[in-house]
Amino acid sequence: MKRHLIIIIPLIALLTFLAVQVFMIISIWRQEKENMLMRYESLTKEAAARLMVGKKANGFEKAMDITDKFAGLVIREKLPELSNAQDTANLKKKVLDQTYSILQKNEVLSSFTKEYIKKNGYSTAYKPFIWISYFSLLTDEGQFIIADTVPDDDEIAKTVIVVDSYKEEHNNFVIGYVSLINMNEIDSLVFKRAFFSILLITLSVLIVVLIFWITWRNLMEEKRLSGLKSDFINNMTHELKTPLSTITVAGRTLEKAQINSDPGKVLETARMISKQSVNLNQLINTILEVSLLERTEFELDRQKVSADELMHQIVSSFLTSCDGCAVLEEEYTAKGITLTVDIVYFTTMINNLLANAVKYCDKDPVVLVSTAADNNYFVISITDNGVGIPHEHIDHIFEKFYRVTHGNIHKTKGLGLGLYYVKRIATAHGGDVSVSSRPDHGSTFRIRLPL
Ligand code: ADP
Repeated sequence: MKRHLIIIIPLIALLTFLAVQVFMIISIWRQEKENMLMRYESLTKEAAARLMVGKKANGFEKAMDITDKFAGLVIREKLPELSNAQDTANLKKKVLDQTYSILQKNEVLSSFTKEYIKKNGYSTAYKPFIWISYFSLLTDEGQFIIADTVPDDDEIAKTVIVVDSYKEEHNNFVIGYVSLINMNEIDSLVFKRAFFSILLITLSVLIVVLIFWITWRNLMEEKRLSGLKSDFINNMTHELKTPLSTITVAGRTLEKAQINSDPGKVLETARMISKQSVNLNQLINTILEVSLLERTEFELDRQKVSADELMHQIVSSFLTSCDGCAVLEEEYTAKGITLTVDIVYFTTMINNLLANAVKYCDKDPVVLVSTAADNNYFVISITDNGVGIPHEHIDHIFEKFYRVTHGNIHKTKGLGLGLYYVKRIATAHGGDVSVSSRPDHGSTFRIRLPL
């Protein structure tokens, strides 16, 4: 299967799964809400019916008596005084407000319903209210209409439940009114009820997302490693081919009869062969050592050495072996320190860092090698004036086969093993290695070894 399909198919599956889960949560929520509204509707209706059966009353009797007296008063005292439309409108408003307040203060249906709902184990977090749809005063001249309204559908909140509606005629007025409850806190009630289902779904979503993320990360890591390995094979082939082809050409040159008459040329060619053989040998050794490292732990042959002396010796031999390829400054502030290290591995470690300091430099290399003692650690710093390492590569350069790419190419030859080897040697000695770098300015590699 193509690589991108390996990622896209599970991603689609994951998104579908997420969509299904979200849909399920919404459905559960809606269903619970609907059930709850229905339950409250039947409970309130049951309560109203019980009141009616038990007390032969709807709970508004007292309110209606008071309203009747109030209506009589208005008919007698207020209506005759009305002289214009404004006064009439004002009076209607006042009468309606007063009626509302009488009804709310004196009805007993709400408290009875609350008791009933509580008894049934349900929350009473709702608001009861009354809505007067029709109200008129009965005068000698006929009905004086105070209110006659039909509610707009939009005006009634989706959370409002109708308990019952009534139409009554008394001595002084006719009224149509509805008893309602507003389940304004239904969302929190539904949340409490559906909490466990939602929690389980959310947990399952989290688990699936986590598994997906881990798998995806492993896949990406595998992809990256296989890229590194194929890079390594390309680099290794290239590195092996260069000395081999030089040796092949030199061998052919030696085979030619005329060269034998020039001992100087023969010697030069033989030296070339021997130099390239050494290179080849070193390369093969590096590869073998790393492959050995994979299978076995380091076996260190530790010896006590003077830190200053060993460092100076390594730096001098490096300089000689590379024909004075760099200016090497030495600054050993920690004097008279004795290290217990495997000299061969230690030398390889410092040599690798020095070689990189020279290799990754686009001007005349100037390298400062310094040592210091820091809290029971011996710290070796190698600072160069090279190309530096871009920030995004810093975390990876000690990984096996890792090489910094410039665009899509490697400017300098290498196998991506040098720093991996440095890290393994430092940790085998109980220490560590770190780097700080500024692109185009240079890098400092710091090795810490316990004293
Ligand atoms: P190699 O040199 O064979 O590529 P290393 O493991 O020694 O492998 O280094 C890994 C990468 O780290 C290199 O490809 C290089 O880009 C970067 N690097 C190492 N040392 C330095 C340095 N002193 N300055 C800049 N870049 C460096």
